[in-house]
Amino acid sequence: MEPEKTLICMECGGTAHLLSHRPEDDPFEAGDYAAYVCEDCSHRIDIVLEDDDDEVGLFAGQ
Ligand SMILES: [Zn+2]
Repeated sequence: MEPEKTLICMECGGTAHLLSHRPEDDPFEAGDYAAYVCEDCSHRIDIVLEDDDDEVGLFAGQ
């Protein structure tokens, strides 16, 4: 899965950019942390990646 490249900073409303990078053969998975830093206030944001509910739904009922 691919995390968003940018987030909206919850501190100042600026743009926070993804810090974490993974090699192509070892991509982000659900449960991994992705770190972002705001370009305006340098606030750091860590999020845990979660599976998209819609994707999970594709496998329901099997
Ligand atoms: Zn900020």
